Amino acid sequence: MTIRSLIQIIPSIPVSDGAGVKLRRSLGHSQRLDPFLMLDEFASDNPDDYIAGFPPHPHRGFETVTYMLEGEFEHEDHLGHKGHLRGGGAQWMTAGRGIIHSEMPLQESGRLHGFQFWINLPAAEKMKPASYRDIQPEDIPTVAITGGSVKIVAGRFDDTAGPIQGLSTAPLFLDVRLAAGHGFSQAVPAGHTAFLYPYAGSLRVGDDGRELSARQAGVLSQGERIAATAGPAGAAFLLLAARPLGEPVVQYGPFVMNTREEIEQALADYRDGTLTAA
Ligand code: FE
Repeated sequence: MTIRSLIQIIPSIPVSDGAGVKLRRSLGHSQRLDPFLMLDEFASDNPDDYIAGFPPHPHRGFETVTYMLEGEFEHEDHLGHKGHLRGGGAQWMTAGRGIIHSEMPLQESGRLHGFQFWINLPAAEKMKPASYRDIQPEDIPTVAITGGSVKIVAGRFDDTAGPIQGLSTAPLFLDVRLAAGHGFSQAVPAGHTAFLYPYAGSLRVGDDGRELSARQAGVLSQGERIAATAGPAGAAFLLLAARPLGEPVVQYGPFVMNTREEIEQALADYRDGTLTAA
């Protein structure tokens, strides 16, 4: 059995997005990991860093996933969905042919900590109808392991399935907490892209124990299993894996398509008010 090793570290850099929200972006500022397009972490006790939120804006051609550890956000979209995202919950939004939504903090003070990642859709699904799923904290199973716990948002861990299943990229999305020196292991299908993102503490990854510290995306080699051990301060990390699409990616801001022409069409549709037309 081959254990995946840590082959590249993508640091996160401070960026500002939306109406001035301070983020740390790892994937998506200089590199993608097919089918993952972007990973942002937002973590602040200072309302100036998040209060402006993300007023109405469009997306086409991919899915956006938001996962909250602390704090509250409200999602509203052109389909009339209103979602209340709170600590421990998630939102899985399929932009498909088009969605216009806002993501605004529901608090004026206190800590906000969470993540958003973008996962691409295959060409055949980029123009499917938009959909949105609000996942409450109690809908995300937590499995106790020796020295820690695993929350399952998408895919499976051991015998436990998360609420998100059946997508063509077969995503696995886990939030793992480990006490110092404890280990974690998970099988991942051959050929799937996989990476780890510690948001607290540090990890030693794979047979050679290469170190991955917090707020960095650690890209994994091919192999049958992921194995990692928490460093001296323990670890809390996201594990993300999915089947790569192997298709051309042409991105213009919130539009991610396969060709330049499809991007021109998205811009024209947005301008003409038909981005979201059925
Ligand atoms: Fe958005």
